[in-house]
Amino acid sequence: MKIPVLCSQCTSHTPDIQEINKHSRSIHVTDSIVYRLECPKGHIEFLVLKHFAHEILFEIGAQAIEDGYYREAISSFTSSLERFYEFFIRITCEFDRVDKDEFNKAWRTISSLSERQLGAYIFRYLSHFGQAPAAPNNKIKTLRNKVIHKGYIPSRNEALNYGERILNEIMPILLELRDKNEFSFSTYCNEYLWDIYQNTVSENKGYQVSQSDNPFILNWNRLNFECSGEKINLDKRLKQRPKCYSVANI
Ligand SMILES: [Zn+2]
Repeated sequence: MKIPVLCSQCTSHTPDIQEINKHSRSIHVTDSIVYRLECPKGHIEFLVLKHFAHEILFEIGAQAIEDGYYREAISSFTSSLERFYEFFIRITCEFDRVDKDEFNKAWRTISSLSERQLGAYIFRYLSHFGQAPAAPNNKIKTLRNKVIHKGYIPSRNEALNYGERILNEIMPILLELRDKNEFSFSTYCNEYLWDIYQNTVSENKGYQVSQSDNPFILNWNRLNFECSGEKINLDKRLKQRPKCYSVANI
């Protein structure tokens, strides 16, 4: 998946949108949320994505469906859910004022074991909200194992339904997290990403550093759009997505 970017130095004095579009380029998304950009004129800038790993991975899954890579969609949606469990564990430990060093010590013991992370998530949910979370949908695990371990090639419909199930796992919990901790939820997200932005600024003195908030399907900063009560299915969300993220659109 790629994200379009503009060189701010080439476009800062140009009000003409067509002229600005001539300077449009793109970055290919990697594991980092910080990107070094260099335009054809040699201007160097840095870009920090205002997104968490589960948001980016879900969007890569959505893009894979759009581009026809259904196995890859299922793999990315699965990783999105796993990283969302990590996000939940981290943010609720922050809400409950768990010491950061102690958290890191504990996290190291489960950081490469997804089943342990799922167990940690279930009990973190229980201790934070005082009730057990809904059991994860069994169909998720069945199809995931078939695709990842047995080389099964799913159809578009199977990938779409799988993404829908993952979205239905994540979105209600995100909204619950936000609604029950409204101020601290946005404060945590803002501060976490602001620290990365500030580190990028201090490590690259003299260079322009900007932040990029994209209209991804999962986006902590746009949860207000989810409050209308209307349930929007993944198929409809895919139709509403910008087309610019596809690597097929060179
Ligand atoms: Zn430039």
